[in-house]
Amino acid sequence: MAARILDGNKIASDIKAEVASEVKSLTTAGMRPGLAVVLVGNNPASEIYVRGKVKSSEEVGIYSEKHTPSAAASTRELVELVEELNRRDEIDGILVQLPLPSQVDSKKVLMTVDPAKDVDGFHPMNVGFLSTQRPGLVPCTPAGILEILKRSNTPIPGQEAVVVGRSDIVGKPVAMLLLNENATVTVCHSKTRDLPGVCRRADILVAAIGRAGMITRDFVKPGATVIDVGMNTIREQNEFDRFFRGNEKREQTFRAKGSTLIGDVHPEVVEIAGAITPVPGGVGPLTIAMLMANTVRAMRLRRGARVPELTKVN
Ligand code: NAP
Repeated sequence: MAARILDGNKIASDIKAEVASEVKSLTTAGMRPGLAVVLVGNNPASEIYVRGKVKSSEEVGIYSEKHTPSAAASTRELVELVEELNRRDEIDGILVQLPLPSQVDSKKVLMTVDPAKDVDGFHPMNVGFLSTQRPGLVPCTPAGILEILKRSNTPIPGQEAVVVGRSDIVGKPVAMLLLNENATVTVCHSKTRDLPGVCRRADILVAAIGRAGMITRDFVKPGATVIDVGMNTIREQNEFDRFFRGNEKREQTFRAKGSTLIGDVHPEVVEIAGAITPVPGGVGPLTIAMLMANTVRAMRLRRGARVPELTKVN
């Protein structure tokens, strides 16, 4: 039987509606959450991401502003900009869109962000809060994955969870979140021996690798919940045929756009998994929704109001 499709668009839109309602109440009470986005240079992909973040802020009623230093900006200029945003009380969240130009010391700029305004959850202080189960800000994509699991009533305590990928942005924080929810967690990477065998132990399998369709059916225990974080673009017809031959709907988009998105999980896995996130329309939409939730959470944590239930991660 085909897997249940975990609809990320629906979950993200529910979360945004909840955030919008909170923002409305907070704004009425005279505390409108504010987000500052820093976009350096003109990387086309970054411009698209930032546009989406600003648009979502508008939709949920969060005040947002965009800062656009030139591609020639120095580390010092960016540090000064972040310090200025740190000082402004009406700014609750600061997001520095990555990647930064090569002349910039990205780590230094990110470390300058006040941990209380670090809505990306990348600051070592927030990483420490997550691993010691203290209230803090959790990276958006991993937090979104937890929301998908919880809102689709997937059992987590005591389950075997396998995470493929150990990046600071996805793999490690999602593993920590699952551990905090009492799953038995294994983290895999490029040096893992017998990856299919380890993955087949998983009741919950999270693929955050960045390799098109790598997780085939031999990696999946029948009935497992599979979370596909990967976002890979296919442009070649032969690659398209390898994954999607016979899928007319995909073929139409591929023809029209000249490309299509595929996750790290092979489409055949839908036949064996119990539940699965699609690509597109799975984890992706949650990332921006959780940025909105994180901005409200940052405001409440920093300005001392009641911590919202919505992002009850710690
Ligand atoms: P990353 O920093 O490149 O990390 C990839 C991880 O996969 C690494 O830990 C790497 O292992 C592991 N890996 C690579 N090849 C492997 C193999 N053959 N076998 C086992 N493990 C392997 O990537 P990331 O930033 O975590 O992103 C992962 C994917 O998620 C990408 O497709 C990215 O576009 C997508 N993503 C999506 C969202 C979203 O909103 N949906 C957000 C963030 C990222 P080593 O550590 O040993 O090198």
